[in-house]
Amino acid sequence: MKLLNKTIDQCLNRLSGSYKGYLSPKIPKQFTIPVIEEVGNQIDSIPQFIDQRLSRDVPGLAFGKPLIIYDEITREIAGEKIVDQFRKMGAHPTAQIVRSNSYSEIERILPLSLKRFASLEADCEISSSPVDRKYGAIKCGEKCCDIVYGVGGGSVIDTAKYIAYKLNLPFVSVPTSLANDGFASPFSVINLGPDGTMTLCANTPLAVVVDIDLVKSADGGYQRRIRSGIGDLLSNLTAILDWQLAGRKNQERYESYSGFQAVCGARLVMKELQNDEDFFYNDHFLEILACSLIASAEAMSRYGSSRPASGFEHKLYHAYNELTDFSPGATHGELVAVGALLSSHAHGQGEQELKQAYQTVGLPTDRQGLTDSGINPELLLEAVATAQKIKPDRYTILEDSGVENLQNALQHVFPA
Ligand SMILES: [Zn+2]
Repeated sequence: MKLLNKTIDQCLNRLSGSYKGYLSPKIPKQFTIPVIEEVGNQIDSIPQFIDQRLSRDVPGLAFGKPLIIYDEITREIAGEKIVDQFRKMGAHPTAQIVRSNSYSEIERILPLSLKRFASLEADCEISSSPVDRKYGAIKCGEKCCDIVYGVGGGSVIDTAKYIAYKLNLPFVSVPTSLANDGFASPFSVINLGPDGTMTLCANTPLAVVVDIDLVKSADGGYQRRIRSGIGDLLSNLTAILDWQLAGRKNQERYESYSGFQAVCGARLVMKELQNDEDFFYNDHFLEILACSLIASAEAMSRYGSSRPASGFEHKLYHAYNELTDFSPGATHGELVAVGALLSSHAHGQGEQELKQAYQTVGLPTDRQGLTDSGINPELLLEAVATAQKIKPDRYTILEDSGVENLQNALQHVFPA
C-alpha cells in the first residue's frame, strides 16, 4: 500500500509539474554529494546562481515553485530578498517562518505544502534505526512546491532539510551561521518532544551556498558561533583518531579518503589560526572555515554515516545533552571541542596543538573556560560514563580504554 502511495505521489506531482524526475540525493550507502557547493561574497542572487548552475550541469532541471523557510531574524537578513529574487525570475515562491527545530513545527508546515492527498505516506527508506523509522515516513500527496530552501542558522536549516526530506523534494541550504557542519550534512537535529533531541537521517542537500556576507554579523552571539564552528571542525581530528583505532582493532574498516577529507580542513584552519589576525571578520579565514565544514559534511555523505566527523567527543556531547535535559547551556561546537581535548589526551596525540588553537579562539582550556561556556564539570564527568550508552557499536577511545581513563583525562586536562 505504501509503495502504491509513492507511485500515486509521483504521478500526481508529474501532472502538476512539481516532480522533475529527480529525486534528491539520499544517504546512507548511496554515493551522493551535493551537486552545487559554493562559498563566496556578495552573491547577487542565490536563486539565479542556482538556476544557472543547474541549467549548465543538469539540463532540463529547473524549479519554479520554491518553498523558502526562515525564521523571524533570517527573514530580514536574507529570506525576503530571496523570495523577491524568485518573483523577479517569474517563479512562484511560498515562504514559511519556523519558530524552532521541534517536530511539531514540521507537522505544522507539512500540510501547508500539500494540496491533495496529504494523508498518503510511504515508509522511511534511508535508515533502519527505530527513531528514523518512527518519524521518517515520506509524505506523498500533491505538493504546492518543487524545491525547499532553508535560509538561516542551525535549527532553521535542520527543520527545512527535514521538511524537504519528508516531502521527498530537493533541498538548498543557505546558512547564515557557521556554528557547525550541519548546514551541509545529510542529517537533521530535531527536537522530538518526549523522545528528546535526536539526529535524524535526511537527504544530502542538492546545493549548499554560503554567502560570507550573510554569515558575518555584529550581533553579540556572532563570535561564539564562529568559535563553535571551529570547535566542531577541529573535533574531526580526534574523530579520525577513533576511527583509525577502530580500524586497527578490526572493529570497523577505516576509509582513508573520507578520513582525509574530514581532517584536511581542520589542519588548514589550525594553520590559519597561527597567523595573528582578526580571523572572526577575515573573509579569507571565513571562506576556509565554510569550505572545511562543507568538506566535513561531504565526508559523512560520502561514507554514508557520521563516522568521519563523530567519535568519542560527539558521544560525550550527546550524553551531556541528555543529562541536561537537552538544554546543555553550551553549544554543540563547544562541547565537542572539550570532548576532543579529552580524547586527544587519552590518545596521547595532538593535545598541545589543540590547546593552542583553543586559546587563540577562546574555546575552553581550563575550568574557568568550561564555566564561561556554560559547562558544568561535575555533569561532564558523569557524561563520560553515560557516553557508553550512545552509539554503543561505534568503537572509540572510550570503548578501547574505558570510562575511568577518560574521566582521568578530564581531571588532568581541566584540573579543579
Ligand atoms: Zn558535530
